[in-house]
Amino acid sequence: MGTISSLHPAVFYALISALVLSMFVPDSSPAATNSPAHDTPVPRRIVMVIHGGAGTIRRSSMTPEREKKYRDALAKALRTGYKVLAGGGASVDAVEAAIRTMEDSPLFNAGRGAVFTHEGKNEMDASIMVGDTRNAGAVASVSNIRNPITAARRVLDSSRHVMLVGEGAMHFAHEQGLRFEPDSYFFTQERWDRLQKAKAADESQSGMLPYLSGDKFGTVGAVALDAKGTIAAGTSTGGLTDKQWGRVGDSPIVGAGTYADNRTCGVSSTGTGEYYMRGVLAYRVSALMELAGVSLHDAVHRVIHEDLVAIGGTNTGGMIALDAAGNVVMDFNTAGMYRGYIRADGEPHTYLYDEGD
Ligand code: ASP
Repeated sequence: MGTISSLHPAVFYALISALVLSMFVPDSSPAATNSPAHDTPVPRRIVMVIHGGAGTIRRSSMTPEREKKYRDALAKALRTGYKVLAGGGASVDAVEAAIRTMEDSPLFNAGRGAVFTHEGKNEMDASIMVGDTRNAGAVASVSNIRNPITAARRVLDSSRHVMLVGEGAMHFAHEQGLRFEPDSYFFTQERWDRLQKAKAADESQSGMLPYLSGDKFGTVGAVALDAKGTIAAGTSTGGLTDKQWGRVGDSPIVGAGTYADNRTCGVSSTGTGEYYMRGVLAYRVSALMELAGVSLHDAVHRVIHEDLVAIGGTNTGGMIALDAAGNVVMDFNTAGMYRGYIRADGEPHTYLYDEGD
């Protein structure tokens, strides 16, 4: 076997150029079904990835009209975030702006479309984090706030704390002048019917988590990289249908539902929050990259397909993530996940199913 120095000079230079080029080409995604594959180098800066929840999203149970509604809503969120980034804005502003559009849509389980608790109320959770300072803000168990992600953002910017809950969080939101809506604004027939189904299932199989089977979750999240290289991530949710006793999931928990660190990545999770909290799964992606030198793609793949499954979370969720170089991963172990990304060319790419489209 020849050594590299014994190679013909032309072959040697070709090898060296290939090596150098490979350092600038983003991760291609082996799991093309769950994450976008990129064959050509794309600009590193200005990237946003979003999700609208993971769950039983199947082509067979989707009408073309309904599919279009979801794709349009995802594209709207991506374009809204992109506008901020393309104008030189901060990733945290882009994340908040994108999530607000999804909170304003009844299609997603966040803000207006939040699911119902066992008592028939809407109790929402949200968090947002910035990767340069690793500062974060979160609210949990809040009702009637039109955009919980903005309440989380205000906690980040205008309070001494990281997380506010319940009445206190709502008091703070009032003080901040945030917009509140009546209960009727948050009513969607579909979510109400789902609560009735979940309660009926509750009675027949006590001790089970009814929302684990056959449900679409619909939480929303966004992760962005801005032109300055700062990563931000945010997540907003109504939680799980039929949740009881002030239950809070992973979405407002830094490290479980949301995480951002410029040195590694930004992550937003979606799925049955109990598993994401127990596994500290958003932070785990970052830790695998930082401490074990794993790539973004491999870290997310391991967390979703091994670590989540190892604690019982088969068929329970997914996550979106991007790294400091602008690589994007969208992965899940459910039938589908509403998701999409946008890069410097400004073209939104949206996906619903596990066949990669
Ligand atoms: N993770 C959310 C929760 O457990 C639900 C979801 O993502 O759909 O509250």
